[in-house]
Amino acid sequence: MKQRILIVEDEPKLVEVLRVYLEAGGYEAKSVADGTQVAPVVDDWSPDLVLLDLMLPGKDGLDVCRELRATRSLPIIMVTARTEEIDRLLGLELGADDYICKPYSPREVVARVKAVLRRSQAAQGDGHEQSALRVDEAGYTAQLDGVALDLTPVEFRLLALLASAPGRIFSRDSVLSRLYDDGRIVTDRTVDSHVKNLRRKLQGVRPDQDLIKSVYGVGYRLDLGAADS
Ligand code: CA
Repeated sequence: MKQRILIVEDEPKLVEVLRVYLEAGGYEAKSVADGTQVAPVVDDWSPDLVLLDLMLPGKDGLDVCRELRATRSLPIIMVTARTEEIDRLLGLELGADDYICKPYSPREVVARVKAVLRRSQAAQGDGHEQSALRVDEAGYTAQLDGVALDLTPVEFRLLALLASAPGRIFSRDSVLSRLYDDGRIVTDRTVDSHVKNLRRKLQGVRPDQDLIKSVYGVGYRLDLGAADS
């Protein structure tokens, strides 16, 4: 069965272009132009992913995203008109799985859709890699492929945070704010060096893989889905 993509977009031309490319990519596509229609269509049609424009009539993309996240777990790609906005959106912790900025190439959109679907399937346990990482928050221990990781408390918190939603991008700010219990001020560079150390320890177990992806200028995500991007 074809995977279904719901396009939430109020510009008919964009909808048409996306539909053509998504269908050529092997997906089934449907579109909605008004924010208030999204939740009912999601319930009726059960899409596998929602491509959600930020500026919409009826109800804006932020509210739609919150509404969907509150009760449903399907992947969401948020589409914005400004790059600067992505930082703000990440700060709001909407829980979108990826962000795309307009103007975009439809080819890129299809590639992102594919990547997000693959990650979310891996996270749902279709891939066995997922269970390869075990984070025990109560015991403050973590294992990768059955090998215990020797982590500092900060590295552990960093890993636990990223592992709480594999594939999701965490902004540097949200990482920063959760690394220390005591609310001390740390810099971006501090985060980078903890990420570097954690990455090195994970690579001690999986030498050929980089499980922590840096999303340039934005943040980090844990990628257990192996050979992607
Ligand atoms: Ca719009």
